[in-house]
Amino acid sequence: MEGFLSLELPELEGRLHALGQPRYRARQIFSWLHGKGVFRAEEMRNLPGELRSRLAPFLPPLPVNLEETLDGEDGTRKFRFRLEDGASIESVAIPEEKRTTLCLSTQVGCAEGCLFCRTGRMGLRRNLRVEEILGQYYAVRAMTDGKQAITHVVFMGMGEPLANLASTCRALRIMTHPLGCGLSPRKITVSTVGIPGALEELFEAVPVSITLSLNGADNATRSRLMPVNRRYPMEEVLATLRRLPLAPRRRFTIAYVLIGGENDSLRDARRLVRALHGIRCKVNLIPFNPFPETKMKRPERADVVAFQECLRSRGLSAHVRWSRGSDVLAACGQLAGDAL
Ligand code: SF4
Repeated sequence: MEGFLSLELPELEGRLHALGQPRYRARQIFSWLHGKGVFRAEEMRNLPGELRSRLAPFLPPLPVNLEETLDGEDGTRKFRFRLEDGASIESVAIPEEKRTTLCLSTQVGCAEGCLFCRTGRMGLRRNLRVEEILGQYYAVRAMTDGKQAITHVVFMGMGEPLANLASTCRALRIMTHPLGCGLSPRKITVSTVGIPGALEELFEAVPVSITLSLNGADNATRSRLMPVNRRYPMEEVLATLRRLPLAPRRRFTIAYVLIGGENDSLRDARRLVRALHGIRCKVNLIPFNPFPETKMKRPERADVVAFQECLRSRGLSAHVRWSRGSDVLAACGQLAGDAL
């Protein structure tokens, strides 16, 4: 039987109606679950006792169990969760001066196989269910408040969100619902390799911020680093970005992992400028974080600076993101649970 945690409000209203309850009861339950993080019927104080006892079968415990927390020297915290089938996933909280960003996973492993990514080496085990995506947020939210309260969410952990589109969209609608988690779509970022069609569907469902993981400025380089480029060449992906109805003053983010000797030359930088022509975007340059199983190299600092300067001198906004949490394998592309 499908639990209530994965249901959107209209669906929950339908289920409560079938139990002979008025619509406002669904709103109360939705708000307890997603707004207040109360998952046990007996704690939902504004429901009548008789209804509370009937709800228990529809409200199983959160399907994510916190198994381990690792604290990085820079304040980054990595959370490892065990799922009901024994699989493990990871989420990362990244505190900054005025915000705390939680990075969520959408799949166990990933099928995309990007060469610079540790998760990609696992292959895909399975998609996460809606309640497993939301469960990461709820579990961490319950542990953090005050200065450390989660202000932003990024779908950038294990997995490709667009390859688990239905659950990702559903989780996003619940997270942005005013009676749900109440997060502004602007404070949520979905990072993707860019699957045309699915990208448009996601943006139509919830106009969140989009980060396109590009990492190559021509098809040969990108296909070498990201096999998905053979299915969806970069021109096709960039054409999709150009078509999305971006609100005024908003921009896409282009993520570009700089890998020593692979894609970090000035020639690559100039090609990147040409490829992004006409797209409202900023570029995040992420010096590669080596992990134990790779031979790929971190770029030289001078090459990173030269790459950034090249983009800036041609009018692109470009920032270098020295990834955080690498001492606990919590940085971009380093998550792999205990699977490797
Ligand atoms: S970078 Fe993202 S899409 Fe590529 S293998 Fe890693 S998790 Fe998958």
